[in-house]
Amino acid sequence: MTGRALPEVFKQSMEQLLGEEYPAFLASYEQQRLYGLRVNTLKVTVEAYRELADWPVTPVPWSPTGFYVPESARPGKHPYYHAGLYYIQEPSAMAPVELLQPEPGDRVLDLCAAPGGKTTQIAAKLQGQGLVVANDVHPDRVKALVKNIELNGVRNAVVLNEDPAKLLQVFDGYFDKILVDAPCSGEGMFRKEEEMAKAWEPSWTAKYAAMQRALLAQAGSMLRPGGRLVYSTCTFSPEENEKIVAAFLAEHSDYEVERVPQTDGRGEWEQGRPDWAGPELPARADEVAGTVRLWPHRVCGEGHYAAVLRRREESSPPLQAAAAPSAAPAQEPSLRPGRAPRRTASGAQQGRQQAQAAKKAVSGDPREALARFGAEHLTAPPWAGAELIWRSEHAYAAPMELPPLDGIRVIRPGWYLGGAYKHRFEPSQALALALRTGDAQRSVSFRAGDPRAVSYLKGETVELAEEDLCTAGADAARKGYCLVAVDGYSVGWAKWQDGILKNEYPAGWRWT
Ligand code: SAM
Repeated sequence: MTGRALPEVFKQSMEQLLGEEYPAFLASYEQQRLYGLRVNTLKVTVEAYRELADWPVTPVPWSPTGFYVPESARPGKHPYYHAGLYYIQEPSAMAPVELLQPEPGDRVLDLCAAPGGKTTQIAAKLQGQGLVVANDVHPDRVKALVKNIELNGVRNAVVLNEDPAKLLQVFDGYFDKILVDAPCSGEGMFRKEEEMAKAWEPSWTAKYAAMQRALLAQAGSMLRPGGRLVYSTCTFSPEENEKIVAAFLAEHSDYEVERVPQTDGRGEWEQGRPDWAGPELPARADEVAGTVRLWPHRVCGEGHYAAVLRRREESSPPLQAAAAPSAAPAQEPSLRPGRAPRRTASGAQQGRQQAQAAKKAVSGDPREALARFGAEHLTAPPWAGAELIWRSEHAYAAPMELPPLDGIRVIRPGWYLGGAYKHRFEPSQALALALRTGDAQRSVSFRAGDPRAVSYLKGETVELAEEDLCTAGADAARKGYCLVAVDGYSVGWAKWQDGILKNEYPAGWRWT
């Protein structure tokens, strides 16, 4: 991409916005775009990943788990990608979740979540504790969102495909943290995706601004008092950035901008420029100076904008109070969707008892098929203590108690465990990717450089001698589901029998 390929109207507006900085901005389009990945700390520590990496990695200044990688690295073509050890993400796109600061135990909403770059970043920060509700209004994009959540081994996500106007009827004042990574005109991505520059039209700014204004207002009512909201875009136009935030502040006296610090090692960030002011300047517009822009001529990354907003503690209570966590002991698994208790300390013990009882079970009850699978193929059922939600034959472990989701399009009510068919249980890919090899009765781990790793990922049958099969105990049966891993990180299921690993890697996930 060169500056010459940029749309003329876009260049004029950028020159007006940037003034004497404009030549440096334009020159940044002569430079190569940057490539990045973010280590998935649900699966691997940053230190361990740095030891494993097959290419040089350079830290992204604003994300402790983010790294620049060379263009030649092609991280999507590596068995570690299939093990969910990292998410390929543009470095500037890592900034909004760093600003959101999700912590274990938080209830987080990612309102515009597909394809899931920021959802998986939030989930890594939650470390399996709390909840991430990932929503996107587009049905096709939700499929990619689900796949990325599963690939990254996330257990505590609920995936919705809903108009935010309907969500606020359910989640009024419910969330501790909300990310609005809004649909936008994408001007900040022109260097990365030249096609976007070709398709761009000046009218997009007004079209997206109307959507963004509505989305931010809807998100604003789903945050609890004292909660934190990040509004972000990957575009430059002030109409989609500072003006959206200023209009929101003018209408929401209970919100304030939390200034992004400039002195914490992120000195290359630039605070939002309030000098877009026109005669229509809304009240409180000066506060947007505390928001941030990432400019491609100032940072090593593409163009982004982010505003951190805090809802004041003294706000009036939400109209529909969020359901309080249940103090009651874990209940019997339910066949119906509904409220689920949080995991309790006695959950693992209770799960083992259920599994032992199920070993003796002979009925076709899907709950028993699941429990039998846990007893025969896993060392301890990882869903113990969670409420199980059944949707026809499909089983999910609910992350925590939720308000009733009547009338909401729920794509994943929790961690998808698999399906019970004709008295047997077929474990899901989502289950495999969230397990460690020690969780399975049988496992095999190939080195990343072993051709059998790629053969497995291509869906091929792989020969495996009995002595290469790792079993949880000396008396464990060799036959049955086997968790396949690469360098100890799970990638999927197979079934071992007579020296052969019968491949269970799903068609849509295969190495092509
Ligand atoms: N956060 C995502 C990530 O990091 O992978 C990228 C989100 S992208 C910038 C914006 C998303 O907003 C798109 O996936 C689009 O489908 C979704 N979207 C557009 N209009 C929406 C609406 N009214 N409600 C919810 N999502 C919407």
